Amino acid sequence: MQIISGTAVAEKVLEECRREIAELTAQGRKPGLAVVLVGDDPASRAYVRSKDKKCRDLGLHSVKLELPSTTTQEELLAHVQALNNDPAIHGILVQSPPPKHIDEAAIVRAIDPAKDVDGFHPVNVAKLALEDPTGFVPCTPLGCQRLLIDAGIETSGAHAVVVGRSMIVGKPMALLLMAKGKGGDATVTVTHSRTRDLAAITRTADIIIAAIGRPHFIKAEHVKEGAVVIDVGINRVDDPTTEKGYKLVGDVAYDEVAPKCRAITPVPGGVGPMTIAMLMANTIKACKQA
Ligand code: NDP
Repeated sequence: MQIISGTAVAEKVLEECRREIAELTAQGRKPGLAVVLVGDDPASRAYVRSKDKKCRDLGLHSVKLELPSTTTQEELLAHVQALNNDPAIHGILVQSPPPKHIDEAAIVRAIDPAKDVDGFHPVNVAKLALEDPTGFVPCTPLGCQRLLIDAGIETSGAHAVVVGRSMIVGKPMALLLMAKGKGGDATVTVTHSRTRDLAAITRTADIIIAAIGRPHFIKAEHVKEGAVVIDVGINRVDDPTTEKGYKLVGDVAYDEVAPKCRAITPVPGGVGPMTIAMLMANTIKACKQA
């Protein structure tokens, strides 16, 4: 059984990024990423800080905009517009979720698609479906695909079952796996909460992508011998033995599933570190295409 280390692959991706950033900077084209946070949600704040730190670490130009929770839709749109017009900024990300009074879909649509490094703008969603390589693919599924490629998992002709159909993970993941070329060409089944007899379907999978948001949901009974399992889930569960009183677990019951697998990603240290690495890679791509 192979444990696919997202930490190791992310390091590799970030090393490539570091080299490319140095080259672009030497040409006077330093890539720039702006992360916008509205409100004071502690988890979002922590994400934004770690993105900003990673950018600076790699030599990327980083702008961190922390706006109060009272920021209006119009004010936020004005900030996005200013970033759209700023030539030093190649990637814009508005941290989700914004406060309730903000129309998130409208904000996403206001971002210049050429700077939408999250890949959530309708133009980029369409480009993914059209297999247009100039588009931006959401970072988490892009990271999952990179993990499969790096681990030498053959996706061509494989039956991949994606559990979850969100716009952030499940749906783009399915599109990536069914696209032509490396890390694609799979036969894809997408499942969700209305799927009947999920285990019967996942048991036919050569590759399972679990993006459900329920701790330890995928059990041994869901997985056939020799399957590859990518666990996207990040769930907080109470654990009084830890200092914080909780720990992070995936959507897969790792201990019972791993022995059946040809390869599996752990949580933490699997998909998680890939997401931020692919965000850096997308920002460099945006800079090169600018
Ligand atoms: P969503 O809640 O948006 O989507 C969850 C999906 O799982 C839905 O499509 C839902 O179906 C499906 N689902 C829920 N219950 C079941 C069930 N009983 N059987 C089958 N399918 C079910 O979550 P996300 O896609 O945003 O995230 C999924 C997980 O990945 C979460 O744990 C999240 O924390 C994690 N995540 C991790 C990231 C990383 O960097 N590693 C990044 C993003 C997310 P339906 O559509 O019918 O409701």
